[in-house]
Formats: sequence, structure tokens, C-alpha cells
Amino acid sequence: MAFELLEVHGIIYKRQKYQEADLLAKLLTRELGPVTVILKGALRPKSKLASVALPFTEGTFTILTKRRGISQFRTYKDLVQHDELFGDLLASAYASFIFDLLDHAAVEYQPVGKYYQLVMTAFHRMLAGDDLEMLSQIVQLQLLEAYGVKPELSCCLVCGKVQGTFDYSISLGGVVCSDHFARVQRMHLAPKTVALLRTLGLVPIDRLGSIQIDDQLKEQSRQAIDLIYQETVDLNLRTKKFLDELKTL
Ligand SMILES: [Zn+2]
Repeated sequence: MAFELLEVHGIIYKRQKYQEADLLAKLLTRELGPVTVILKGALRPKSKLASVALPFTEGTFTILTKRRGISQFRTYKDLVQHDELFGDLLASAYASFIFDLLDHAAVEYQPVGKYYQLVMTAFHRMLAGDDLEMLSQIVQLQLLEAYGVKPELSCCLVCGKVQGTFDYSISLGGVVCSDHFARVQRMHLAPKTVALLRTLGLVPIDRLGSIQIDDQLKEQSRQAIDLIYQETVDLNLRTKKFLDELKTL
């Protein structure tokens, strides 16, 4: 396949020094999903690419690509940098985690569709100071589908009931109402926790108002989501481990 010059929109979410002064970066793009690019000489003093090499730089990028492997970074325009993240280790860790989570569900050079908007909106709301933990829980729940696990959250898996008291069943892959509690394997979550999971999993992130959830409930939904991921997707993300460690400090 021949090289082509393509203009893509997106964000740099991971970077790594390569050889003397080059940088390998992961770009999440609207057009091609995740893409690995090499920025030659980006780490040299006075390099024109130095400003692009900062983490979480958004913009329009021109890449020379075969739509596989490593593409070459050429030019950029309309750069947006997020200085607000530089001093904020926790927010940066959350941002790295949500991009990493999408990265692992996606295939390079294949568009990620609606998940692009999901993660970018969550990222921008994190920058705006919205609740980091809640936003990351929304992303985690709504990305389960990208991992091939689409949990049923809108109604009871057994009878289709929409309202009532619910629990979550990992083996069935969704919520069940109290009519069947005796007969199914379930997580034994508090009904309040399940209600929160349903909301977070179903709400369109751009229509979400400000979220105020008490810490205890937030922690319970976090543990439930961790368990659902462990049992169904079994990822071992370094960004998640780092984030969990950071939260215990
Ligand atoms: Zn039911």
C-alpha cells in the first residue's frame, strides 16, 4: 500500500522518547481511531514540533501514512494545549486512563465511531472541573460495549421491567429486578448503587448536568465497575493501577 498524506483531527494521549531526539506518540483521531506517529527530532531544542509533543495536545494534524504501523507526523494547525493539566497529577491520571481504556478496545486505523465523542467530551468536562471519578465511571460503563460486553441497564434482563428494585448480574450481563433475586447469580449491590450504575451507563454524556454524588456511593459504584471489568474484560492497565494508587495517597 502506498503512503498517503492525510489530515486528521484528534489528540495526543501517549508519548514516549524514541532514539536520540524522536518521539513516538499515540494519537486518537476522529477519522482513523488510534494511530501511532513518529515525530522526528521533536525533542531537539528549537524543534518546530516541540509544542505538539506536549501531552494532551489537540489539533489538526497532517500525517504520512499507510494506514498501518507507524505513520509520520508532518504538520499541524489549530493547536489547543491544556496547561490546566500540567500541575494536576490526579486529573492527568484520570485523562490518561480514559484514553488508555479506549485505546485497548480499539484497533489502530479503524474509526472508533461514537466512542471518540464519548471520551473527548469526558476529557473536556474533566478539564472544566467536573467530577473526575463520575466522568471516568461513565466512560468505563459506556465503553463496555466497545469491549463486546454490552450490559443491559435499561430494563430487567428476565422480565423487561423498567422500574423497581434492581441488582446487577455479571453472569447474565445486566440488571435484574427483585422478582428474580432468588433465582439468579447477582452482585448483591445496594439498590442505590445499581440505580447510579444505570444512570451512568445510559446517560448521554453531553446532556449530563452537574453531578453530585456522595463519596460513599461513588466508591460503591467504583468497586462494582471494577468487578464487572475484572470478570468480563480482564484488563490490566498501568494507567488504572497508577490512578488507584494515586487515590490512596
Ligand atoms: Zn424482572
